[in-house]
Amino acid sequence: MSAESLAKTTSTAYDAILEVIASVEPRVADATRKELADQRSSLKLIASENYASPAVLLTMGTWFSDKYAEGTVGHRFYAACQNVDIVEALAAEHARELFGAPYAYAQPHSGIDANLVAFWSILAHRVETPALAKYGVKNVNELSETDWEQLRHEFGNQRLLGMALDAGGHLTHGFRPNISGKMFHQQQYGTDPETGLLDYDVVRAKAKEFKPAVLVAGYSAYPRRVNFAKMREIADEVGATLMVDMAHFAGLVAGKVFVGEENPVPFAHITTTTTHKSLRGPRGGLVLAQEEFAADVDRGCPMVLGGPLSHVMAAKAVALAEARQPSFQTYAQNIADNAKTLAEGFLTRGANLVTGGTDNHIVLLDVASFGLTGRQAESALLDAGVVTNRNSVPNDPNGAWYTTGVRLGTPALTTRGFGATEFDKVAEMIVDVLANTSAGTNKAGAPSKATYKLGEGVADRVKSQSAEMLDKYPLYPGLELS
Ligand code: PLP
Repeated sequence: MSAESLAKTTSTAYDAILEVIASVEPRVADATRKELADQRSSLKLIASENYASPAVLLTMGTWFSDKYAEGTVGHRFYAACQNVDIVEALAAEHARELFGAPYAYAQPHSGIDANLVAFWSILAHRVETPALAKYGVKNVNELSETDWEQLRHEFGNQRLLGMALDAGGHLTHGFRPNISGKMFHQQQYGTDPETGLLDYDVVRAKAKEFKPAVLVAGYSAYPRRVNFAKMREIADEVGATLMVDMAHFAGLVAGKVFVGEENPVPFAHITTTTTHKSLRGPRGGLVLAQEEFAADVDRGCPMVLGGPLSHVMAAKAVALAEARQPSFQTYAQNIADNAKTLAEGFLTRGANLVTGGTDNHIVLLDVASFGLTGRQAESALLDAGVVTNRNSVPNDPNGAWYTTGVRLGTPALTTRGFGATEFDKVAEMIVDVLANTSAGTNKAGAPSKATYKLGEGVADRVKSQSAEMLDKYPLYPGLELS
């Protein structure tokens, strides 16, 4: 189908969908129309967001949503799962082929779910299976209450070492308020205070001292690549299981930008990801594993999951099929090239970046030199139609709520077609907004970390500059709602 007739068919489909929704609750149909308009007219720089294709989006709106399918392909606890089996097997097959993984599990509903499956699979592998052998039973249900009590104690005494949140790690990597920080004894590794870069010798020293069962690598806000061969070496030295959370950069792995030691899949025992960030699929999670962990991950349901979202697994199959096309490799390379251009655009205009640049899809702007908190910068940028999110910088003096950083990512605007010229302009516009924003005061006249004053005319100037670029690279070109 040509791009033009595909856009026409998509327009007809969405018109029909919105009409059907409006016949029940018109306010939902209106909000849905408005969301498209808002996404079309703003500069989306949120590093964890993207624009999935109409094929992916439409796949989610089907009757697969109505189906229960607890279990695994061909081994369900519900009847009539023959079609769910097809889409789940396809999603897993595409994932295995795309990432070169021996095993893939497509059921997790989200990145957090994928990590929970991974943690409990690792515990099952390291703690439960040997214990069952020791007690001479096949299943935890067969354990006596005394033996179960002992096993529970062993589960609860495992250690996890992950990247600190303010160094760019994710809250599921051992952050105390998250379940990962409660179910494990946790310690965190940070980044070098001078360079902002990961120091493998420090990670190794911490690992040797702490002796974690699980070493977690991966990040949400670290603007650099990681050497996963080194992380595996460290894990092996201390007898840990290496789990890599590639939620953010899975698209760069899929698109063969991260290869060799920068590709986690061959090095990690278990790799988890979301499917909706740089991978550009539906909202969801995925677990990849080496063969020795396959049987443990396969027990994601009933371990921590219930019925899978069959409609989303179908959409994962479509998105992963898209990511196997050669054009996805061009897209992934463009994501990384555009991030470099964006970073250089900031540096040449005197702005500060955590680690001094980027070599992935993330640019972490330190806004202290503008006299602002991340919260003030994020709000001022939003007034000018630039959608970003505030983010901690290492050892952030403003804490996790106000922060001192703004995280920017290139996957979404790269999908629209933005290239070097546009990303350099984006840097110019962001510096324009921040240089013309001043920190405000609270009601008592004291300095505030939240209020701000944006110079007159700046928002309009930046909005009209971005409108020009957004018009040139429309979101879902040819999609017109009546
Ligand atoms: N892991 C990482 C590294 C992430 O950045 C995120 C989300 O931001 C997640 C996991 C959680 O994904 P989800 O929001 O789908 O649960």
